[in-house]
Amino acid sequence: MALKALDIYKLLPRKNCKECGDPTCLTFAMKLASGKGDVDRCPYLDEQARETLGSSTRPPIRLVKVGVGERSFSIGDELVQFRHEKTFYHPPGVMVAVSDLWTRERIQEVVIRVRDLVIVRVGTDLRLSGVAIRHQSDDPAAFRRAVEAVEEIADLPEVLMADDPAVMEQGLAVCGHFRPLIAAATEENYETMGKLAKDYGCPLVVKAKEPGRLPDLVERCKGRGVQNLVLDPAVPSLHQFQNVSTAIRQQAITRSTPALGYPVFLDAAATGMQDAAIVTGILRFASVIVVEDPDSSSLLSLLTLRHNIYTDPQKPIQMTPGIYRVGTPGPASPVLLSVNFSLTFFTLQGYLEAARIPCFMVIVDTEGLSVLTAVASGKLSETLVAASLKQFNLEKEVSHRSLIIPGYAAPLSGRIEEATGWKVLVGPRDAAEIGEYLEKEWTS
Ligand code: SF4
Repeated sequence: MALKALDIYKLLPRKNCKECGDPTCLTFAMKLASGKGDVDRCPYLDEQARETLGSSTRPPIRLVKVGVGERSFSIGDELVQFRHEKTFYHPPGVMVAVSDLWTRERIQEVVIRVRDLVIVRVGTDLRLSGVAIRHQSDDPAAFRRAVEAVEEIADLPEVLMADDPAVMEQGLAVCGHFRPLIAAATEENYETMGKLAKDYGCPLVVKAKEPGRLPDLVERCKGRGVQNLVLDPAVPSLHQFQNVSTAIRQQAITRSTPALGYPVFLDAAATGMQDAAIVTGILRFASVIVVEDPDSSSLLSLLTLRHNIYTDPQKPIQMTPGIYRVGTPGPASPVLLSVNFSLTFFTLQGYLEAARIPCFMVIVDTEGLSVLTAVASGKLSETLVAASLKQFNLEKEVSHRSLIIPGYAAPLSGRIEEATGWKVLVGPRDAAEIGEYLEKEWTS
């Protein structure tokens, strides 16, 4: 069981010397209790306390990194079972499969798609994570050629999928130093596969014959010196994946089975129900999901779902405050004030673009609250508006001094005029009416 902050505090030397980087032992204890601290930062702990704290305060699910460079991604290090308790931190890597039966051209077509695809949703770039290379031929050299074909044109994280260590070695000889995820160590091959993972410093998928045998296989791989593991429950149905993956998460979070404290792997393409498997994987704790040739609509849905599940439910998605241009506005163009709640921003921006009236949007920082909530809570105030206009240097952009505020901010109009010296016009409450409003009211 996880120790509480006070229990941890009692085990600390309590010198308040700040050498751990925290101002007091108590704050350090609180950090450890939340799974975000590193026990080794206190140099005064005796061995017994270090051991007790180490096993109970390390993150319940190990952080594992796949790949190197800009597109590398981390998985694991989650702290809760349910998203509403806190948040999920590390979205699953979605890896598109290619086969060593394919031609070089066909492989590279897929790789280019994975490399270049960007879907923009609420101001965020959503991308696929990497490529999974499956060994399906009888030829180890074909596997090597397939890995080379991927490496030739893209710097993407990879999963190497082969059960034969001799085949795996062919792939690792080409890309081993880029930290691909090795899939998989089984009860038959874990000694050789573990050695390869250790020699190349790669994370390793562990696949037992049945989920109940995973802890034992994990311990055996750890015994070979491999720490960065990913669990493949390898169950025959999605229903079973859901149950097993949920049980793994529960036992990891509660630390009742520390050997299950690793991210989970799902080969969605192998289930025969890919779309359903992807959704199940995203919702039920999969950290690496292998997919095959997803069509555009599936991609949009899966990347959007992943994005939604892995945003902090306690923190609205926000825009960066500042000036945004719609079209090519000039000194006489209208200036519209709004808040940095991304849904409000994109709704208003969409209607302004449809109206085809070039204008400036001045987005102020209401900590992601909508207009109505920001007015009610006092987050949108004349002081904020005055400070923002000054900070964004709006006076340099336009020759007039008229500011259109949202209809729901009407109660602030007089105060904003006083604080800014700008003439305030109250816009419509419904963003859908903004085009018509500007046509009628904007005369500058
Ligand atoms: Fe306390 Fe150790 Fe941090 Fe010093 S280094 S403040 S003794 S926890």
